[in-house]
Amino acid sequence: MNAIGIDIGGTAVKAGLVSSDGSVLDRQSHQSPISADAMAALLTSIATQYGSEAAAIGIGCKGVIDPVTTLVRVLPGTLHFLEGLRLAGLTGSTLPTTADNDARAAMAGEIRWGAAKGRRNAIMLTLGTGVGGGIVADGQLLRGATGLAGHIGHLTVEPDSAHCICGNRGCLETVFSAKAIEAEAFRIIHSGCDSALARMPSLSCEGVFHAAAAGDAIAQSIIGKAIRRLGAALAGLLLIFDPEIVILGGHIAEAGPALFDPLAAELKSRTWPMLRREVPLIRAVGCEGIAGAAALAHAF
Ligand SMILES: [Zn+2]
Repeated sequence: MNAIGIDIGGTAVKAGLVSSDGSVLDRQSHQSPISADAMAALLTSIATQYGSEAAAIGIGCKGVIDPVTTLVRVLPGTLHFLEGLRLAGLTGSTLPTTADNDARAAMAGEIRWGAAKGRRNAIMLTLGTGVGGGIVADGQLLRGATGLAGHIGHLTVEPDSAHCICGNRGCLETVFSAKAIEAEAFRIIHSGCDSALARMPSLSCEGVFHAAAAGDAIAQSIIGKAIRRLGAALAGLLLIFDPEIVILGGHIAEAGPALFDPLAAELKSRTWPMLRREVPLIRAVGCEGIAGAAALAHAF
């Protein structure tokens, strides 16, 4: 059967028709609506367009989502207007619909079709504008008591540091995320330091990685510091969950060896005495987003 996969993010809503082998047969992307009415209009349009070819709908969305009722329980930030609404009710469709946190949906895709297939213990991080997470422990995709489990981006790494969207301070995504890396680059540029970053027409996380690869010392320092902190946080998770693999997704993972190599070294130095093995860092195979959301529907 085909399923409709819808990935609701803070900047874009991506959707498509996904076959039972995980192939995305058709896809579309829209700027994220800024009101509940506009979101309902968009989701209804998507469900109408693909409805005759699909047997179910899966929705991945930021925040804490009840997978059975599709109720958005907690969603601070740009999509806050969805809090208290049932996502299934916004599609105008009678197809069976399930929804979950977007990173957990990405992990569901990796379990069904990707890097976590056949694994009983795995950790996934989605490294993008923010940081999401999914954890499979002893064969179970963890949900926790209220559906919050796996919000790895909100692991406290610096107790007295920057305020986070979640209400805590010093969370992982305040030190390692596209927005954190861009903010650090912005701060350093405006302190007057000489760097290629200051001459870029627009500052982006990708641009900081490129400048670091080209030898810019400031960019290398920003990336190095961010990866060290990610490595420290992830090292703690390795010792807690003892995963077979760690899967890295999200657009920062596209940096490839510039991220994976120093992160692996950081992890090894911190965990070898206890683990006595290197935990493979594996790139997500592309089940994020649309296909991940559809994996929720296929499991329905
Ligand atoms: Zn936080």
